[in-house]
Parts: sequence; C-alpha cells; structure tokens
Amino acid sequence: MRLKKGLVISAIAIASALVLSGCSDSGATSSSDAPVAATTDFAAGTTMARLADAGTINIGTKFDQPLFGLKGPDGKPVGFDVEIGKIIAGKLGIPASGINWTETVSQNREPFIENGDVDLVIATYTINDTRKEKVSFAGPYYLAGQDLLVLAGNPDKITGPEDLAGKKVCTVSGSTSEKNIAAYTTDIIATDAYSNCLGPLRSGEVAAVTTDNVILAGLADQNAGEFEVVNNAFTEEPYGIGLARDDTEFRSFINDVLEESYADGSWVNAWESTAGAVLNTPTPPAVDRY
Ligand code: GLU
Repeated sequence: MRLKKGLVISAIAIASALVLSGCSDSGATSSSDAPVAATTDFAAGTTMARLADAGTINIGTKFDQPLFGLKGPDGKPVGFDVEIGKIIAGKLGIPASGINWTETVSQNREPFIENGDVDLVIATYTINDTRKEKVSFAGPYYLAGQDLLVLAGNPDKITGPEDLAGKKVCTVSGSTSEKNIAAYTTDIIATDAYSNCLGPLRSGEVAAVTTDNVILAGLADQNAGEFEVVNNAFTEEPYGIGLARDDTEFRSFINDVLEESYADGSWVNAWESTAGAVLNTPTPPAVDRY
C-alpha cells in the first residue's frame, strides 16, 4: 500500500492509505459535477419513480467530517459521501440543487431511515448485520478500518488498541467504533460527533480518539501539525448506503449506479475531487447484493 508521497506501509487492513504527515489542510471542497440524466424511465410505484417525479431527494450525511461530509461555508456539505449522493441523484434525473441534505450523526442514522426523514444515508456508515435488522444497505462503495488518533509526536507511544488498557479514549455513541473499542478499554467518552473529541485530546483528558482511519485522517488534515493517525487499522468497516429495509428495488438500483460509477470513472472523479486531496485513490470494492 502506498501513501501519496511514496511512503510504503505494510498494513494488513483492507482500508486505504492514510493521511500524510505534514500535509496541511487541503480543503477538499471541490465537486466532481456528477452528470444528471436528461430522461428517466422508472416503473410506476417504485421509489425511483417517486423521487424522479418529485425532482428532489433527502439524503442524510455527516456535517463535521472533512474529506467525507463537511458542511461548507455556503451551508452545503462537501466530501466523498456527498459526491456519491450526487452521482445517485443524477441517475434519478435530480441535479445537486435538488438534494436536501440533512445532518445525520452516528446514532440517528437508522431511526432517520426508519421514520422516512431521509431517503438515503451516505455517512461513513458501516454495513453490518445488526443494522441490517432495521435498514438495508447498497454497496459497499469504500472499505475503511478503525484506527486511533493521538497528539502529534505520539507522547504516550500508542501503537494499537492494546496500548489503551487503563487509558481514556473518545469516540461517538452508536458507532461501530464505540462497540469495538470496548474490548480494549472501559474508560470511554462517547459523544455525538468525532469533532467533539478533539478538545479532550488536546487537553490530555483522553489519550486517543478512535474511529475509522479516513475520518481521523480528515481531522488530522484539518488541524495540521496537531494530531497524527497511528496507522494500524484493527477492524474492517465497509461503507454502505443506508435505505429502507424492504426496498429491494431501490437497493438494486443504487448497486447498479455504484457499478456504473466504477466503470465510467465517476467514482474515481468523486474520490479525487474530495478525499483524494489527502488519501491515495483506492480500488473500489465489489458491491455485495445480499
Ligand atoms: N463507520 C463506523 C460506523 O458506521 C464509524 C464511523 C461513524 O460513526 O460514522 O459506525
């Protein structure tokens, strides 16, 4: 696995390469301008037909995660998850201006889908069996892995989760990160959003922040010189697009869209105009049509 500046890492994780040390806040606010279908022809009664007729779609994403979903100065989110949303909307004939973005935090993603508050959640959202009891997932469209963020210079010499015994860690409620880290330490601050963990890390209240490597990479990049990612991923986090549990037609449509985006270059464009400012371009994962 090769980082952008040519550093070779031997991570066993399936996750992609991590943030570069010394790479300052690169913004990643551009957009890939996903194409918008001029005409669409969906079977009556499908979610696709309803959304195409309405000309709008409600999508939940994160608003505080640089590289994947970060609310920009104009009030609109930017990032790789946002670009994936634009690709899907475009195939429904809906332009970016027709997307209503709603902030979802980790713990409200299932209820927002179940209550119909959003049509889709695209929010660094790991596919797993527990969540599949409530929602369904298209994808995966990216493979991340859980890692640790520490102060620059790594003063506590933390090399992996085993080094956290007896140390306090910050993470987010309702995330897989919260569940996974409980196997290593019981001293956990669980907040609503990962950005809330940076203050406690700065002050020394916690020794580390834990979540997916790419989220941590974005936070490190946003706060240049303050933090570093340990770069030793210890879980697999396949990112899926959450939607209503029984909407098999919509799930299948989105899986088709993802595969088309892999083939026509729009997935790579989406990556390179956002997360690609900091992270190497990965190979897209195979879609799982369970
Ligand atoms: N991907 C993990 C999850 O879905 C952690 C990141 C997040 O909380 O969004 O729980």
